[in-house]
Amino acid sequence: MSQSEFFDVVVLGSGVAGLAAARRATAAGLSVCVVDKGRRIGGRVSTKRADGFTFNHGAQFLTARDPGFIEDCAAAIDASALADWHVAGRDAFCGAPTMRDFPAFLGEGLDVRQSFEVSSITRGVDAGPALHFTTADGTSVAGRRAVITAPAPQTAKLLSEIAPELATSAAAAEYAPCWTAMYGFDETQVPSHAQPYRGDSGPVGWAVWEAHRPTGTGGALTVQAAPDWSAEHLEEDAQSVAEAMLSAYLVIAGLAPGEPRYIAAHRWRYARVIRPAPADASLVSQQGDIAIAGDWVKGARVEDAFLSGRSAMDMLLASAT
Ligand SMILES: Cc1cc2nc3c(=O)[nH]c(=O)nc-3n(C[C@H](O)[C@H](O)[C@H](O)COP(=O)(O)OP(=O)(O)OC[C@H]3O[C@@H](n4cnc5c(N)ncnc54)[C@H](O)[C@@H]3O)c2cc1C
Repeated sequence: MSQSEFFDVVVLGSGVAGLAAARRATAAGLSVCVVDKGRRIGGRVSTKRADGFTFNHGAQFLTARDPGFIEDCAAAIDASALADWHVAGRDAFCGAPTMRDFPAFLGEGLDVRQSFEVSSITRGVDAGPALHFTTADGTSVAGRRAVITAPAPQTAKLLSEIAPELATSAAAAEYAPCWTAMYGFDETQVPSHAQPYRGDSGPVGWAVWEAHRPTGTGGALTVQAAPDWSAEHLEEDAQSVAEAMLSAYLVIAGLAPGEPRYIAAHRWRYARVIRPAPADASLVSQQGDIAIAGDWVKGARVEDAFLSGRSAMDMLLASAT
């Protein structure tokens, strides 16, 4: 344990909540390390490339109301990492050229370590009291303080022994799942209409031809099932889900683009928060060294994730003074 690299703050999760927390810590002059089990930065703000196609298969767009978040979005627009998108009847933003470019922008200059799946968090002594984050193969980093931003069920599990009061807060949040299907067609088959399809239930809750995004190109089509259908079909195999969703979409859209060259589906088990943590939930450990964050602390959107990460770091800073 004494050989762990040591930081003022370790942030678990390189989604928007974790990046917001890490930016806040850096701005306060602290050394920060962000660790994440995924291969790429961004968590559920994600983009997949396959067979020459690009799919934004997680969050579809984001909105901003908080002045601080608006400021960071404006900086991302200046850096061409975000673009204005009037979609679903509102003024929103879309990552540019892909959704993942927004978290990549937020992560610039931070020490972010991907493919680092934390299997245990323990308290030890390492240049003073320390929290040790260790992977199954024994790799470890340590920090004086930590912000944990994994989705609520994973946070509850990780903190059940070291901070049971925070695990209880996390266990109260609930999510709806989302099946997201991805299809690659020849570019010539992309229809010319520009607005994504939205529905409230069934196999097609949302559908967008990626070329219809402000900075999109190519023949990729992304379809997300509504929560009811996703829950009902959650344990089915990805291929049959992708086929069922395509048939439904083609009927709804009145299209016959032929066979896709690429077809796949991604099962988001914890996609959209349907019940956030209670307003009076504990968010900082009794020792004042761990804070929890994530969309599920505040709501269900990218902005909620950002605001919760930022305020988690503020709470830790306040508890240290
Ligand atoms: C299909 C879908 C569509 C959506 N559409 C929209 C939308 O249009 N607009 C909108 O505002 N929001 C949307 N959302 C919600 C939005 O994506 C989330 O609110 C936001 O991205 C959550 O960010 P976060 O940082 O809280 O969590 P996440 O992005 O989930 O980040 C948590 C991170 O923790 C990491 N992690 C978990 N366990 C461990 C571990 N043991 N060790 C290391 N790392 C770990 C994960 O790899 C992940 O990167 C959508 C979500 C989905 C899935």
